[in-house]
Amino acid sequence: MSELNIFLGPPGAGKGTQALKIASEFDLAHISTGDMLREHVSSATELGKIAKSLLDEGNLVPDELVIEMLLERLNNEDCKNGAILDGFPRTLPQAKSLESLDKEFPVAKVFVFEVNEDELIKRILLRGEMTGRSDDTEDSIKVRFEVYKKDTQPLVDFYNEKNLVNVIDAVGEVEDIYNSISRHFK
Ligand code: ADP
Repeated sequence: MSELNIFLGPPGAGKGTQALKIASEFDLAHISTGDMLREHVSSATELGKIAKSLLDEGNLVPDELVIEMLLERLNNEDCKNGAILDGFPRTLPQAKSLESLDKEFPVAKVFVFEVNEDELIKRILLRGEMTGRSDDTEDSIKVRFEVYKKDTQPLVDFYNEKNLVNVIDAVGEVEDIYNSISRHFK
């Protein structure tokens, strides 16, 4: 049995930064579906060709494609000790797909990152300048926030009903936020 820990929150909330640190400290796999999709785009795979324009516009990649990619990834040896899911699930069908894996990969904890919208926009635009990420533009950010509210935010209730949610105040020093998450792993 390998436990999954879900990092949930709007774009720019710092899920990736914290996921990297927690995964390395507690020897868990770090699975970022956004990173995986960007790799598909840069190596121009079939999936990458489909995903490219969706990513750039700020829209989601279809559930069935992301679910298939995730299931394949979970079979990897490095997930035996458990994993951090960073950016998955992002829709109700994706969350339901995890429910069907409950015996082998139960969801242990869900961390909901809370950051106000002004701070998010500032962070994403800065990241866009620094990394050149093609979806870190004002137009795409607008779409990503709308998509988050419509498709992803309902997952907070979904996991709240299962009593799995820990809310994280994700504004402040990276180290302080890390401490507020890592205490749940000790
Ligand atoms: P952010 O959290 O800043 O939006 P990510 O790297 O997590 O960045 O995701 C970037 C993009 O990758 C999303 O806007 C979406 O197009 C796509 N993506 C990532 N994860 C998923 C997913 N689980 N389902 C559908 N699309 C996804």
